[in-house]
Amino acid sequence: MRKVIIIGSGPAGFTAAIYAARANLEPLLIASSVEVGGELMNTTDVENYPGFPEGILGPELMTKFQEQAEKFGTEVVYDDVTSLDLDGPVKTVTLGSGAVHETQSLIYATGSAYRKLGVEGEERLSGYGVSWCATCDGFFFREKTIAVVGGGDSAMEEATFLTRFASKVYVIHRKDTLRASKIMQERAFANEKIEFIWNSEVTDVVGEAAVSGVKLRSTVDGSVSDLALDGLFVAIGNDPRTHLVHDKLDLTPEGTIWVDGRSSKTSVPGVFAAGDVIDPTYRQAITAAGSGTVAALDAEHFLADLEDASVEIPAAQAAGIIA
Ligand code: NDP
Repeated sequence: MRKVIIIGSGPAGFTAAIYAARANLEPLLIASSVEVGGELMNTTDVENYPGFPEGILGPELMTKFQEQAEKFGTEVVYDDVTSLDLDGPVKTVTLGSGAVHETQSLIYATGSAYRKLGVEGEERLSGYGVSWCATCDGFFFREKTIAVVGGGDSAMEEATFLTRFASKVYVIHRKDTLRASKIMQERAFANEKIEFIWNSEVTDVVGEAAVSGVKLRSTVDGSVSDLALDGLFVAIGNDPRTHLVHDKLDLTPEGTIWVDGRSSKTSVPGVFAAGDVIDPTYRQAITAAGSGTVAALDAEHFLADLEDASVEIPAAQAAGIIA
């Protein structure tokens, strides 16, 4: 049986692994079978992670996280968790391969998933002009006209990045002000290839075999219009990935996993949560990393208490204090 299993390979998961490994807990980290490294794998330059004044590419940063975790003895498994049994003192983690792992404690750091618009044509044309990842798909839109939906940092980052390829990038936002940080806004406003379409929402993605445009509705007066496009990037935020635990752990009204105060303790003893899956507000690589630290320290204390209890009980029994 393992002392600690970590699910998730973003900044929270790997930081928890670094701390747990350095505490000699020999963690097993379950990364995904598809993409290891979490959301930063879809990012270009990370300019706000302390320690890298020149900036660092997202995938490179995650490779460093993993190297550091493995250096201290973390075992990484590339598979998907299909089910969890969190009842009782022994937690069971079942993987897609059929492998079953038992553990005394579990750190859940599965991050969040791209939010969808939920409009006609979005799913059907996914991969045929509709994308959630500019760094993955931007290359296919050389000299094309595309749009990014959203008004946050992701939308500004994607739009700015996509101007490297596209001849024109619209940003479609449902309000007339952006949620994005000032520096990201200014960078987008200064880019001649970017044009903002304010107070508008996408109601349909149109196209037969590939995206040919979108239908827009004004959020001010409800008027509708068509916009011809070769591609659409959806950057409207993320939802916490709780599908494996939504009926096993308490959730908050925002849909994140509930934790006790500033700790990582969930509603089930021995189960800790970290990163975007508990954070509806900040969701930065650095806050996720800090949260992974908290989870590893909480797991370490939990395991130490378990050990103390198993030592104390026989001693008390020997002394005739308890039956
Ligand atoms: P946010 O939640 O910050 O922004 C989502 C945006 O999408 C908002 O403008 C929101 O509109 C809009 N939106 C949400 N749902 C819909 C919908 N159904 N239809 C149309 N528009 C919608 O998400 P981000 O992914 O941008 O950022 C998440 C976090 O990651 C933030 O903390 C951000 O700072 C951080 N981040 C940092 C980066 C960096 O510093 N390099 C890069 C990328 C992200 P409205 O404003 O009306 O609510």
